[in-house]
Amino acid sequence: MTTVDHDLAKRALIEEREKLVRQLAELGASETGELRDDLEFGDGFADAGAATAERTEVLGIVESLKSQLEAVDGALAQIDRGTYGTCANCGRDIPVARLQARPASILCVDCKSKLR
Ligand SMILES: [Zn+2]
Repeated sequence: MTTVDHDLAKRALIEEREKLVRQLAELGASETGELRDDLEFGDGFADAGAATAERTEVLGIVESLKSQLEAVDGALAQIDRGTYGTCANCGRDIPVARLQARPASILCVDCKSKLR
C-alpha cells in the first residue's frame, strides 16, 4: 500500500490553515467565523440595500473559508490519531493522488459525492 507522508501532509495543512485564518482576518472574521462587532459595512454606498448585499457576500465567503478550515482541522486531527489517509466515513483508503492534490481530504470520493 502506498501511503502519503504524514509529516509532509501536516506541513501542507498547517500552511493551508494559516492562509485560511489570514483570509478570515482580512474579512474581519475570527477563526470561528464571527464577524467583528466594529466592522462597518456600506461605507461609500448610497443606500442600505447595497450595504446589506455586501455583508451577505462577505458572510458567504466567511462560511466557505470556515468549512475549509474545518476540513483542514479534521485532517490534522486524523494525522494526530494516525488515521490520516483513510476515509472518515467508510474507512477505506483515500488515493494518495487525491491527498496530494487536496491534503484536507478526509472523505473518499464516493462518500464525498454521497454526502453532498
Ligand atoms: Zn468513504
